[in-house]
Amino acid sequence: MATAMPQSTCDRCQAPLVEDAAYCDNCGERTRKARRMIRLAVRVELLFIGLVVLLVAGFTLVYSLQQ
Ligand SMILES: [Zn+2]
Repeated sequence: MATAMPQSTCDRCQAPLVEDAAYCDNCGERTRKARRMIRLAVRVELLFIGLVVLLVAGFTLVYSLQQ
């Protein structure tokens, strides 16, 4: 699987990348690894927002049932 290999050159300008770099030193393009991390962060954030909404909805329900 090609995506499991560490990316060694920039997708845009083909300049060699520093290992674990998030951006290309030459053109500033994000590396595949950085893009994966961003997707993961967005997913975690959406999950967190969903949990907060559920919590608020749960509390609202409990309060309305108590009255
Ligand atoms: Zn580049």
